[in-house]
Amino acid sequence: MAHIVSGDSGVHDVVEALRRGDVVGFPTETVYGLAADIRNEAALQRIFSVKGRPTSHPLIVHIADFDQLHDLAVGVSPACLALLEICWPGPLTVVVSAAPHVSRVCTGGRDSVAVRLPAHPLAQMVIRELGAPVAAPSANRFGHVSPTSALHVANDLGDDITLVLDGGPCAVGVESSIVDFSVTPPEILRPGSITAEEIRAILSHHGTDLSTSSHGPSRAPGMMDRHYAPRARLVLHEAGDPLPVDGAPILRFDTNLVDAARHLYERLRELDARNIPLAHVVLPTPSGLGFALRDRLSKAAAGL
Ligand code: AMP
Ligand code: MG
Repeated sequence: MAHIVSGDSGVHDVVEALRRGDVVGFPTETVYGLAADIRNEAALQRIFSVKGRPTSHPLIVHIADFDQLHDLAVGVSPACLALLEICWPGPLTVVVSAAPHVSRVCTGGRDSVAVRLPAHPLAQMVIRELGAPVAAPSANRFGHVSPTSALHVANDLGDDITLVLDGGPCAVGVESSIVDFSVTPPEILRPGSITAEEIRAILSHHGTDLSTSSHGPSRAPGMMDRHYAPRARLVLHEAGDPLPVDGAPILRFDTNLVDAARHLYERLRELDARNIPLAHVVLPTPSGLGFALRDRLSKAAAGL
């Protein structure tokens, strides 16, 4: 089982491992990531094999300052930069044109790259000490429930990785919002805790529109039908609907949405830990953070 490390010495250990070309678990404020040095293609390939993720599914690149964005990307628009000035560090990823030197292993063969500057102080320390960005998808097996603690990562990935840096429970709990700036107008590929309303308001100051329906070629793999899924079957209900009285547990995600997001994956994992075959889920209304929760829960509930 992977070794859980913490503090300054933990940061040092995972940076040494990244330098050797290992992949490591590391904390961000959204979910835990499975990180590799972006300069090392063998390490990037290892991310795909450990997760069991198709190599066409691109990885988000995590950076620690704006200089790294300008190194990775070309032609970043003023509207995109204005959005990032407000939302970074934080749970927002942007898809922009990739500089020629960015590994196409990381971009899944595309000429666009997804970039995020995470707010978690340990994530920033790792990237700064390494002196390079890290590519990091969520540190779980492909299609399964995302991890929001170091123990989740160690339990999921077992002996396939050697180290997980413990940064405590994730404050946000759902994956970053993704905005694709490689299309006009930019569009939301994945809803997150930074809402479409907030993003639209910022972009509108720069005369830029925002589309919330995504059909283009960069439709993100996280948008496929089944994802974030526990073994338990989930039956979805709108708030206020009559709930069946069949003895199955009822999970409510319709009040205190910040807490609902923070504990979402832990609660789905708990169903599996208790070998529960079926649970009822009460959805939040579709506004603000409710969009992100409905997105994850409907994918967790989708049939195979
Ligand atoms: P995950 O790594 O599973 O947490 O999800 C990362 C998301 O970012 C996936 O849905 C990716 O498809 C998306 N993504 C990463 N890079 C790109 C890119 N170059 N173009 C479009 N989407 C991307
Ligand atoms: Mg994921």
